[in-house]
Amino acid sequence: MKIHQLTVEQTFASLHSSLKGLPEHEARRRLQEYGPNHVEEVREEGLLVTFAKEFTHFFALILWLAAMLAFVAEWSDPGQGMATLGYAIVGVIVINGLFSFWQQYHAHEAVAALRNLLPQQVKAMRDGGINQIPALELVPGDVILLADGDAVPADCRLVEAFGVRVNNATITGEPLPQARGSEPSSEDDVQNSRNVLLAGTTMVSGEAKALVYATGMHSEFGKLAHLTQTTRAAPSPLKLEIIRLSRFIAMLSALIGAVFFLVGMWLHMPFWQSLIFAIGIIIANVPEGLLPTVTLALAMATQRMAKRNTLVSHLPAVETLGSTTVICTDKTGTLTRNRMTVEKVFLSGEFYLPADTAQLHGSPLFDVAIYCHNLKQGEQQNKQVLLGDPMEIALLELARTAITANPDYKRIDEIPFDTDRKRLSVLYQTPGGTVLYCKGALETVLPLCTGIHVNSEIQALDDTHRQRLIQAQENMAEQGLRVLALAYREIGPDTAREYLEEELILCGLVGIEDPPRAEVPAAIARCRGAGIKVIMVTGDHPRTAQAIALQIGLARNPRVIGGDELRRMSQIQLQLALDAEEIIFARVGADQKIRIVQALKNKGEIVAVTGDGVNDAPALKAADVGISMGISGTDVAKESADIILLDDNFASIVAAIEEGRTVFENIRKFMTYIFTSLVPELIPYLAFALFKIPLPLTVVQILAVDLGTNMLPALALGAEAPRDDVMRRPPRARSERLLSWPLLLRAYLFLGLLEAAAAMAAFFYVLHGGGWHYGQPLDSDSTLYLQATTACLSTIIVMQVMNVFLCRHPRESVFHFPWFANRLLLLGIALEITLILLIVYTPLGNSLFGTAPISAAVWLHAIPFAFAMLALDELRKVLLRRFSKPV
Ligand code: ADP
Ligand code: MG
Repeated sequence: MKIHQLTVEQTFASLHSSLKGLPEHEARRRLQEYGPNHVEEVREEGLLVTFAKEFTHFFALILWLAAMLAFVAEWSDPGQGMATLGYAIVGVIVINGLFSFWQQYHAHEAVAALRNLLPQQVKAMRDGGINQIPALELVPGDVILLADGDAVPADCRLVEAFGVRVNNATITGEPLPQARGSEPSSEDDVQNSRNVLLAGTTMVSGEAKALVYATGMHSEFGKLAHLTQTTRAAPSPLKLEIIRLSRFIAMLSALIGAVFFLVGMWLHMPFWQSLIFAIGIIIANVPEGLLPTVTLALAMATQRMAKRNTLVSHLPAVETLGSTTVICTDKTGTLTRNRMTVEKVFLSGEFYLPADTAQLHGSPLFDVAIYCHNLKQGEQQNKQVLLGDPMEIALLELARTAITANPDYKRIDEIPFDTDRKRLSVLYQTPGGTVLYCKGALETVLPLCTGIHVNSEIQALDDTHRQRLIQAQENMAEQGLRVLALAYREIGPDTAREYLEEELILCGLVGIEDPPRAEVPAAIARCRGAGIKVIMVTGDHPRTAQAIALQIGLARNPRVIGGDELRRMSQIQLQLALDAEEIIFARVGADQKIRIVQALKNKGEIVAVTGDGVNDAPALKAADVGISMGISGTDVAKESADIILLDDNFASIVAAIEEGRTVFENIRKFMTYIFTSLVPELIPYLAFALFKIPLPLTVVQILAVDLGTNMLPALALGAEAPRDDVMRRPPRARSERLLSWPLLLRAYLFLGLLEAAAAMAAFFYVLHGGGWHYGQPLDSDSTLYLQATTACLSTIIVMQVMNVFLCRHPRESVFHFPWFANRLLLLGIALEITLILLIVYTPLGNSLFGTAPISAAVWLHAIPFAFAMLALDELRKVLLRRFSKPV
């Protein structure tokens, strides 16, 4: 018989296990035998395909075409050195391909490594106790505990279930949650069997104990994995923009190349010369290394973010984060520490401190506190710990001074907490009969009560009581305390489940303190400075929310919208309400969060939203950036989120936004850097054509710059650390493109022209020194010509070394930046200099790049130009700062 057709006892027997789970040594043995519980990732595409792509993408194809043309030229008109050019271009394709492959691979690995930072944990019975173990170590025979929001880690058979519903969409495609129980099933098919939970699905509600029977690749999900993993993520907006940009540039340069070729022919230039010419122009203009550098810059940003406690699950989230305009944040655990202690108890019309409750120990309040929870006694590193909601732990601590849990009490059912009900009821079988313990928000508990416990007697609940209770709640809430009402009821036999939460007897209120996190006020202030609006969305009482908001400097006099009011609002009213400067949503359920998110998006905001529960998943998906909690978040929330906060801390969101903004700026920095160098590569060709001078820079030399010396400094600019001013500016507009006119003008018409001037000056400096006069023909093999082109190349490099520092900011002085802070930058420059020295002073470099050793005077000649560029750019920056408003 199949596993789902057996009784619970038979299931245990068939897997040699029991309710107590497996002994540790047996689990270890089985792990050896069945392997880790891990579904192997099928790479989106084979490594080989990725590799091949590096040699066949658009730029590569242009270069291949250029190489082919060179070989054809050699074949039709041998002896013009065209074959050397052909080989050089092929060499460049190879080097460039390898470098970008390395970049892509690195980026992929970096993102993959992040995933392992937060392994899924499961509560499993081992040696008779509850242990938190990595889901990876589950074996067949393990007994696991699951609750709402958990991802089911392996195929398992239910042995105990309270109100379990699962979402099987990942396996069967069925979108609606389905009820599950532990009874044997007569179904034929495991997938639809009522008593089976499948790996890869999620538990939407309830609590369960289940026996694992298939792990890893043996599970249904493992068998399906090869089919489902092939779905591809759509390319991010940034990537699309860069692809579009590169294509445009490539087209444009191909066009210019073609025009120049025709002009050359028209000027009766020899065919092969016009050809080199066209190829040179095309190659000079194509920014070959751009896209892989962008990808790697983003990947490095995710690594920096991980160090600051945020995990990015896919790269595009990095750029969206940078443009976030509104953060909707939870209160509990994100703004506050989620370290709860009971501060006040309201009993029989009086306030008490927890320390003074000894005289009240007869009160049933303590029974509710000790029985009404979902805590689990677990083991972590051989220490007994309570696993679960810190608020419930605080209540348990309060009750422990009065009573200890009676082992004869048996938990038989629960009506679970959710953000809509805002209360939890637990049903116990006691020697004296069945009792229901209930706790929750006063608004949801009070209407269910008919009696109240006053001085050890039960009185009928009247309006005076109600008034006093509400007053007491407001009183505590105003101090920022979280207020819970505790109630109970003795249940008669045969009461139907839907009538359980009725005629309750209220025992009292407790006020629980949850202090704000220390880092939060500063983080809120930074958001304000950065033009980011922060909206608190909480299930807690409006007064509590407001008190906390005041404490952390979020709001002085906010508009507070309650859940009921929100429900009555139309989408238009909601959008209007969101215009308020300071706004707090209180007593809202997770299902209403999505409305707030949608309204903000309609207003054109870029919305980041936090969430941790199952019900938060739709809001997390709807938001531009969904943020889940690493510690308190459910698996479902984590799977729906774009980023995960490892420490649940609001301040980490702000840090991530800072990194997101920085990476955008950094990409602009290296774009400026790369585009600048295109001009001194292009001008020599224009001069050659227009003024009939010897060609100052050969095609191979251009490639040496574009694909050699430029690479690492560009990457280093992509890794620049955030500057404090990034969080003192408003968010980037959604419409703002990466490549702006000011950037292009600065690169092409300012920095680029200065570099070109220096390079041309160096070229003529050497030629004149060698006795050349304008109009005199120059043999392309002569030492003088070789030295002159070498001077041109070397000067471009010297200028680029200076330029790297200028590119660190479009308007701030270079002197505001510590020169040695970016180690990668120094490394890049060192490598750049080493490369050019090898090219100029080794025989191999000379023969590959058509260079010849030059004298020290040539280098010295370049230095003043470099400093002139520095001075002029500083002047430009001063003028810019003075006469234009900050961007
Ligand atoms: P928050 O936004 O502060 O996380 P929640 O949605 O978790 O708020 O909780 C909303 C309200 O529900 C709380 O103010 C409290 O009254 C009630 N509540 C929260 N957790 C529990 C629980 N475990 N049992 C009973 N009631 C709860
Ligand atoms: Mg909560």
